[in-house]
Amino acid sequence: MASMLELINELWYLQRNIVSDDFDRALYRLAEEVPVTIHEYPTGEPCWTWRVPEKWTCHEAYLETLGGERLIDAADHPLHVISYSLPFEGIVSRDELLQHLHVHPRLPEAVPFVFKYYERDWGLCADQSLRERISRSPADEKYRVVIRTSFEPGTLKVGEITIPGESEETFVLAAHLCHPAMANDDLSGVAVAIETARCLLERQKSGSPLHYTYRLLILPETIGSVAYLSHHEHLIPQMKAGLFLEMLGNDSPHALQGSFQPASQADLCLTTALRHLDPQGYCAPYRTVIGNDERQFNAPGVRVPMLSLSRVEPAGSPTRPYREYHSSLDTPEILAEERMQASVEVVLGLIEAWEQNQYVVNNFKGEIFCSGYGIWVDYRTNPDGHRRLFEIMERCDGEHTIADIAAELDVSFQTVFEIVKLLQSKELVWLSRSMQPTAPRR
Ligand SMILES: [Zn+2]
Repeated sequence: MASMLELINELWYLQRNIVSDDFDRALYRLAEEVPVTIHEYPTGEPCWTWRVPEKWTCHEAYLETLGGERLIDAADHPLHVISYSLPFEGIVSRDELLQHLHVHPRLPEAVPFVFKYYERDWGLCADQSLRERISRSPADEKYRVVIRTSFEPGTLKVGEITIPGESEETFVLAAHLCHPAMANDDLSGVAVAIETARCLLERQKSGSPLHYTYRLLILPETIGSVAYLSHHEHLIPQMKAGLFLEMLGNDSPHALQGSFQPASQADLCLTTALRHLDPQGYCAPYRTVIGNDERQFNAPGVRVPMLSLSRVEPAGSPTRPYREYHSSLDTPEILAEERMQASVEVVLGLIEAWEQNQYVVNNFKGEIFCSGYGIWVDYRTNPDGHRRLFEIMERCDGEHTIADIAAELDVSFQTVFEIVKLLQSKELVWLSRSMQPTAPRR
C-alpha cells in the first residue's frame, strides 16, 4: 500500500488530459490500491447536452527561431503545449505567435496550465520572461512552430468505488484525476478520497457497519461527472448528499463550500461538524470558494446537495485559491503527507456526523427534571453549559435533527451530539431516521 504522497509522486507528471492514455494509466494504478469499477464512455457518446470528446495526445511540440534556437519544448514540461491544442506546423510572425503564447498572470517564473477542450485552437505556454524576450526581440520577426497532436476516438473513463451500507441511500464522494503534471489540483483530492475509501472499507470489515452507502467517483473534470450521472440516472434519487474533494495538500486551513441547497441536512450537518473538526477552517456559500464537479451534482434535474472540501485560501487572499494554482509550480513539493492525513481525518469526521445525524425524539413531556436524572448543570459555575443544555433539550421534539439543532443554536454538531447521547443514556430521547412529531395535533 502506497502512502498518499508516494502515490502522487508516481502519478503527478503523467499527461492526464480528460480523455488520454495517461489518464487511463493513472486510473488503472489507483485500481491496484482499492477495488475500482471502471465505466467507459466512447468519443461522441451523448451525455445530456454534452458529448464525450476525442482522445488527445501530444507527440511533440516546440518553438524555434528561424536560426534553429529552441525556445520552448514540450519534452521539458507537458504544460508548454495547451491541453487539446490543434496540431500546427509553420512559420509565423511575431504578432501571430504572441496571440498563441500564454503566460501565467501572477507567477512570472511559471508555465501556466491552459486548456481549450472545446474551442479548437493551437497554443503554447511559457514563463513571462520568454514572452517578454520574444516581444522585444528586434532580430527575430518570424518563428517556427511545430505542434504534433492527434485527436482520435477513445473512451472517457470514470472510476467508481462502492462501499455498501445498510441503506441504499448514498453519500457521494468525488475528485478529479485530470490535469497534466500538476499535484495539488487535484491529485491531492484523489489521494485523500482513496485513503478515505480504504478507511471506510476497513471499518466495514472490522464489523462496524455503515448506515449509508458511500460511492467514490474518480473522474475527468466536468465531462466525467456529466457522463456518469447521465448514464446512472436511476441512482440519482438515492444520492442524499455529496462532498467534492480538491486541493487538500497545500498549507491552508480547510474550506467547506456549501451546496446549492443551503438548508439541506447535508449542508447543516457538514458545516456544523467542521467547526469541531478544524476550528481554523471556514465555511462559505455555493460557488464562492471554487467551482468544480459539485456543479454537475447540484445542477437542475440532479439537485444532489454536494458540498466541497478544499484548502482554498480565504476570500481576499491575493493568491487565492493557492499560490501555485494551474501552473508548473503545482508539484508534489508543495504538498505534505500530514496535511493530507489531517484532511482524511476531517472527511471521516464529516462522514461520522452524517451517519449520526438523526431526528431526536422525546420520551418525555414538559421540561426534564434535570436534577432527578443527574444531568443538571449548575448555572452559577457553568452558565453557558446550563443554557446550552436547556436550549438543546427544548428542541428534542421529533421534528429536529441533531444538525437542525446545531445550526439553530450556532454550535458544533458534536456539542449537540454529546448532549443527545447523554439524554439517550437516560432513556429520555431516542433517535430516528424519519421525522416523528410528538406534539399533539391541533
Ligand atoms: Zn483545475
